[in-house]
Amino acid sequence: MEIRNPAFFEAPEFWKSDWDEANAYLDSLEAGEILEIGRSEGGRPIRAVAYGEKEPVERTATLSAAVAAGHPQSFFGPEKRKKPVLVIFSAIHGAEIEGSVACLNLAGVMETGADLRGRRWEALREAASRMRVVMVPFAQPDGRIRSAVRNLIGGTVDDLYYYGQGAFKNGDILTWPECKRTQPIPLEKMAFLGGYYNDAGVNIQHEDFFAPRLAPETRALIDLVREETPDCVMTLHSCGQGPFFTGPDNFIPQAHQYRQAQIDTVVAERYRREGLKPGGGASAGPAGGFYFHTALHHASGALPILFEFPHGLEMKPFTFDEILDIGLILFEEVMRFGLTYGFRPG
Ligand SMILES: [Zn+2]
Repeated sequence: MEIRNPAFFEAPEFWKSDWDEANAYLDSLEAGEILEIGRSEGGRPIRAVAYGEKEPVERTATLSAAVAAGHPQSFFGPEKRKKPVLVIFSAIHGAEIEGSVACLNLAGVMETGADLRGRRWEALREAASRMRVVMVPFAQPDGRIRSAVRNLIGGTVDDLYYYGQGAFKNGDILTWPECKRTQPIPLEKMAFLGGYYNDAGVNIQHEDFFAPRLAPETRALIDLVREETPDCVMTLHSCGQGPFFTGPDNFIPQAHQYRQAQIDTVVAERYRREGLKPGGGASAGPAGGFYFHTALHHASGALPILFEFPHGLEMKPFTFDEILDIGLILFEEVMRFGLTYGFRPG
């Protein structure tokens, strides 16, 4: 792997994006419950950290059958749980580490009331304590370890493509979205396989979700949402233009699409007030398409939301502190929305 800029491999203490450093931090947690939910293609543990007790769901039918019966309680259970459940997946794409940093700082808030800079987040902690929160900070460890950048602040789009999508043996950088024309990526053609993929070249955002065999990461993450039946599942990505939510997503019920749009509006408005330059918005993402988070909805009934952090590239600069604030504000606003209005419609 090339070192395109040494600054990409350095970060402040609170910015825990390195695999070993982040795992050491997870091992130090006291209140959070650590679960190993599976192993990556390359054999690395996929770890979750959970806060808030798990309440059982009494289920007598599949989601498909329960909805067709006009009786969703047959899937979601006759009793409303005391605490809504929020599941958060980050670093599905290994160079997109900003959400992972935010997850580990949220763990800090849950443990001590303060993030890893020592800044207190009382409203966030209060909201999170009224929910069950299950985070997988590194959902696709192979790509995180391979694409070892700790940040991309000040980088170019080519830097992002190099560490994200990779480079061919002839020296050409694989660009986005052209990287999606081949799935999985043929390993023998790559000089450097970017962080986008697991060790088999699979981008888990775009699997054939009905295939008999899925990538082990996809399998483990889908199994987790089947087990948790979250009210909301949030996947955290990053790009040059963030912060924004993608969607609304075509292939989920319309009432869920309205929820996606409402959350997008609430969070963007808060960023505007805080000077955190919300961008892109609903129009930035493709309106159609069936993605990993779409599959997570159909597997669990959860409201799926996909958030794009900014990397702080030269095209739209942000500091480490601002990016972390974006993450913790995101969690606070999403949780408050869910506690006030409910994540799932109906
Ligand atoms: Zn991504």
